Amino acid sequence: NGLQVAIDGPASAGKSTVAKLVAKQFGYIYCDTGAMYRAITLKALKEGISLDDAATIAQLTQATQISFTPDEGGQRVFIDDKEVTEAIRQEDVTNSVSAVAAIPAVRAELSDRQKVIAKDGGIVMDGRDIGTAVLPNAEVKIFLVASVKERAQRRYKENIQKGINTPLDELQLEIEARDYKDSHRKVSPLTKAKDAEEIDTTSLSIQEVVSKIANVINN
Ligand code: C5P
Repeated sequence: NGLQVAIDGPASAGKSTVAKLVAKQFGYIYCDTGAMYRAITLKALKEGISLDDAATIAQLTQATQISFTPDEGGQRVFIDDKEVTEAIRQEDVTNSVSAVAAIPAVRAELSDRQKVIAKDGGIVMDGRDIGTAVLPNAEVKIFLVASVKERAQRRYKENIQKGINTPLDELQLEIEARDYKDSHRKVSPLTKAKDAEEIDTTSLSIQEVVSKIANVINN
């Protein structure tokens, strides 16, 4: 069946890039839980719901179907059968998602769905609270970190490839603000699980990080 592999860490630490490659190497499913929080955020913004209106966003979460289909580069994301793979990466979603993710009822609903997705193992799931809250019994837990400068630089390069030119210092501020909110919310804040293996990717290549995780899985 395969193991449950939980990969957590701060924003832009390379979680999804390596999680996809590890999943491919082991023939596992890949699940990006951040995409689920982003999907709810996108829908709330589109419907003009105030981010302070926790009750309405909680209802919206209950009523929203989020689905994934595997794809060459990872996964495509759908809300109620409409593709949102690109739309959930927009800056307004990125800047609002931590507020939505801090709503306890939203977390309860999405983490229940994540537990169902992961129940049979053979999965690499990335997020902020996978090792601590969603899959506390995961056989493999990885906590990826990198300096904030390095993370901003990686984001900058990714953006340039997509034709987006946000200044580096602005990206760094956005990353720091999101990490702060994610690690200070009341319910399952971003933190390393006691039994997680921490990997600092600041000066490692993608392949080096993938090999380290593969070693943890194989041992
Ligand atoms: O991983 P990504 O940067 O796409 O996640 C977007 C946001 O979703 C995070 O900044 C965080 O607020 C929220 N999130 C979360 N718990 C997860 C995954 C993501 O709160 N397991």
